[in-house]
Amino acid sequence: MNKPCIFCEIAAGRMDAEVIHQDEQVVAFRDIHPQAPTHVLVIPRRHIESMTEIEAADAELIGHMHLTAKRLANELGIAESGFRSIFNFGRDAGQTVWHIHLHLMGGRSMGWPPW
Ligand code: 5GP
Repeated sequence: MNKPCIFCEIAAGRMDAEVIHQDEQVVAFRDIHPQAPTHVLVIPRRHIESMTEIEAADAELIGHMHLTAKRLANELGIAESGFRSIFNFGRDAGQTVWHIHLHLMGGRSMGWPPW
């Protein structure tokens, strides 16, 4: 049997996570290995493995993920100084969990490019 998707498990409340926002479409929780003082993941409740699976009908959902990140950036106090919102898609980008997630990171200055 395939292992269950950990982010589906978190979205369903079957696995612990520090959830800071949830609604009908998305769940946001703190990353277990934060790479910045604030590091939150925004995921769709629906299992979508990667960018290659996104379709035109998902435009509202993807927009909602970004608007949720913006709202959380304000609520978490990182909007003014600046923050990153990042999707990693595929192996070369470093995707390790195959359920799309928007990284919201802030609270420190960051370099570019992100090697
Ligand atoms: P990716 O490398 O796929 O873009 O990012 C996956 C992220 O998920 C990583 O930053 C990793 O720390 C985080 N992560 C992996 N497993 C868990 C978990 O079980 N709980 C939480 N909260 N974050 C996780």
